[in-house]
Amino acid sequence: MPTEHPIAIVGGGPAGALAGAQLAAGGREVVLFDEKLAWEKPCGGGLTHKTLQQYPFLAETGSEGNLVEHCELISPSGQRVRFHMQHPVAIFSRRVLNGLLLERARGAGVEVHQERITRIERTGGGWQLRTPQAEYRASYVMLAAGARNSFCAQFRAPISPHDLMVTAGYFIPGRTPLMQIQFLKGITGYIWVFPRADHVSAGIAGKMGEVSTADLRRALERWLEENGFRLEGANFYSHILPSFRTETFETLKVCGEGWAMIGDSAGLVDPITGEGLYYALRSAELCAGALLAGRPEDYRNLLEEEVLPELRLAARVSHRFYRGEIFGDSALERMVSLTAQSASFRDLMSDLFAGIQSYRDLRARLYRILPAVMTEGLAGTLRWPWNGSVGSELATDPE
Ligand SMILES: Cc1cc2nc3c(=O)[nH]c(=O)nc-3n(C[C@H](O)[C@H](O)[C@H](O)COP(=O)(O)OP(=O)(O)OC[C@H]3O[C@@H](n4cnc5c(N)ncnc54)[C@H](O)[C@@H]3O)c2cc1C
Repeated sequence: MPTEHPIAIVGGGPAGALAGAQLAAGGREVVLFDEKLAWEKPCGGGLTHKTLQQYPFLAETGSEGNLVEHCELISPSGQRVRFHMQHPVAIFSRRVLNGLLLERARGAGVEVHQERITRIERTGGGWQLRTPQAEYRASYVMLAAGARNSFCAQFRAPISPHDLMVTAGYFIPGRTPLMQIQFLKGITGYIWVFPRADHVSAGIAGKMGEVSTADLRRALERWLEENGFRLEGANFYSHILPSFRTETFETLKVCGEGWAMIGDSAGLVDPITGEGLYYALRSAELCAGALLAGRPEDYRNLLEEEVLPELRLAARVSHRFYRGEIFGDSALERMVSLTAQSASFRDLMSDLFAGIQSYRDLRARLYRILPAVMTEGLAGTLRWPWNGSVGSELATDPE
C-alpha cells in the first residue's frame, strides 16, 4: 500500500465516521467525503443495548438518544401486547447521531470534506477520487456510502433486487412514550413507530418485488390514522435497505487489493429486523483494526468469525419468521400470544430487542424455557375467555 497518500473514506454515516475516527486515532492520515454530512437519513434510529455496551460514548449523550423502555407488539390479526424492555432501546435522530460521530472523527484528526465522490479509479498502486470540484489521491479506499451508491458494482457484483427491502416512512412532529411494532399479513416486513427526543420516526418495510413503495406508503398512512397519528407537518421519506439472502452472504466480497466495504455498502444488515447500525459500527471497527494491524485482508475473516454467521442464520430463517406456521397458526401470531401469556417468553423477547440474545443460541434457549412457557401459556389461555377479548387481555402491560 503506498503510504504517501491518505486513506480515503467515501461516506460519513456511522460506518465511515467510526472507521475514520479509529484510523486517525491510530495515527493514519484519513480524508472522509460525504455529500451531506450530518443529515436526517431515512432510518428508525434505534440502537440496541448491545450497541450501547460496545460503544459506551453513544450511551453518554444525555437526552440525544431517547431511551425507550416500553414496546407494543401487534400481530397481523391485531392482537396487541405491551411489555417492559429490561434494557431500553436508545432512539436517535440520524442528524444528531451522524453529527456526533463525525465530530468524533474530526476530533481524532480526520479531514472531513462535504463533497460528492463521482468517480473512483485505480492509479498504479493507489486510487484517484473525483468530485465535481477536485481530484484526490488515496492509498486505500474504504467504501461506506450506504445501500444506495453506484460504486458497489465497480468492486463486486451489483446488489440484486432480491437482496433489498423497500421502505417508506414519516418523521412526525410530537412525542409518544411507546415503541410499536405492527406485523403485517402478506408482507415480509413490519410497521414501526420509534419515539425520538423531539419527534417520531414511523415507517414500513417490505421485500422489494413483493410490494411497491406506493402500496407500503398507503398501508402505513392507513395504520397511522387508525392509531391516532396525524401527518400535518410530517416529512415523508423512502429508502432501500439491504436484506441479503443466505446465498448472497455465502459469496459476499467485502475487500480486495487496496479497498474494503463497510456497513450498508457491504450489505451488513439483519435480514429479519433491518438492524444495520450495530453492523455498520462493528464492521467499521473490524476493518479499521485490520488496517491498523497492517493486515487489511484479515477484515473478511474477522467478519466471518463474528458477524456473518449471525446474519446468514437470520437470512435462512427470515421467511419462516414472517411466513411460517406453528401448530396451524402463523408464527407471528404465536409470538405475540406467547409474549402476552408467558413471562419467560417476554424475557426472551426483551433480550432479542436488546440485541443480547443471538439467533445462534435462540433454539437452545427456547428448548430450555419451553416447560415454563407451556405452563405460563396454558395458564394464560385458560384465563382468556373469562377476561374479555383477546385483544384487551393482550394489551395489558404485565409489568
Ligand atoms: C427506513 C429505515 C429504517 C432503519 N431503521 C434502523 C434502526 O432503527 N436501527 C438500525 O440499527 N438500523 C436501521 N436501519 C439501517 C441503518 O439506517 C443503516 O444500516 C445505517 O445507516 C448504515 O450506516 P452506513 O454508515 O453504512 O450507511 P449510511 O448511514 O447510509 O451512510 C452513508 C453515507 O454516505 C454518503 N454518500 C453516499 N454516496 C456518496 C458519494 N458518492 N459521495 C459522498 N458521500 C456519499 C451519504 O450521504 C451518507 O451519509 C434502517 C434503514 C432504513 C432504510
